[in-house]
Amino acid sequence: MNLNGTATPDNPVYKELLDFFTPILALRRAYTDALRSTASPLKIDAEVVANRMRDGTPLLDKTALGCDYTVMKHHFLEMLALIAEKTPPATEEIQAMIEKDAVFESLVRNTLQGLPPDGKHAQTLRFLLEETVNPLLAIQAGFLADTPAFKEWNRGSCPVCGGKPLMGELSGEEGKKFLVCSACRTRWPFGRIQCAGCGTQDHAQVSLLVIEGDPVHSIEICDTCKTYLKIIDCRQAGRKIDIDMENLTTLHLDIIARGKGYTNTHLYMMDA
Ligand SMILES: [Zn+2]
Ligand SMILES: [Zn+2]
Repeated sequence: MNLNGTATPDNPVYKELLDFFTPILALRRAYTDALRSTASPLKIDAEVVANRMRDGTPLLDKTALGCDYTVMKHHFLEMLALIAEKTPPATEEIQAMIEKDAVFESLVRNTLQGLPPDGKHAQTLRFLLEETVNPLLAIQAGFLADTPAFKEWNRGSCPVCGGKPLMGELSGEEGKKFLVCSACRTRWPFGRIQCAGCGTQDHAQVSLLVIEGDPVHSIEICDTCKTYLKIIDCRQAGRKIDIDMENLTTLHLDIIARGKGYTNTHLYMMDA
């Protein structure tokens, strides 16, 4: 998928993107419901929660998660069929690969351990595996949502799964900042002027790029670690926020930030 430097919300590239992602999001919702019907929360007692928040250890032990590989593989193959049009050479090879004994299970376990696939079609595989594994994390995260101890966390990675933030949100009367996890969608409070990449609170290093004509979105940039984070001001939005749609329809902000030399780690492209 090519996004050139002229992408804006009016650019036809968004129609293409939304046409591509809308069925993916619908499939993700149906899959999450299917997984949720058999999920039970991992038990974590309050003392352990408090200790982990203090020590900086995410709450979820991802290696201990039960996986229904039948449901997961079915979803993976449905996703593969959906993207077949975009990546025809990859599709058949990936299908042949995961039909080999225990390959799918091993890829899922590696993804849960934070080991991304490598080799041929690595980016496409990563996308498919994250779409397969993240809903599992999101279900557990739902059991832990709004844990009061999240306010002790004060880190730029997710307190539940350790993932990187997808976007930041400003909400409440005072415009408090929250980060939203790119993997499990946990939302946790974070310093208003603080970089999620390196943690600095140096006002000379962390600043906001304001987008002309758009009071809802901005880009937080850090000159210490050269990363950026897209921010949505929920007070200005005046509507219920769907973070996935916000992320998709603000790809022009990623292009602006990248054009200025800032990076983040979770915007990926499919293999050509
Ligand atoms: Zn997370
Ligand atoms: Zn930084």
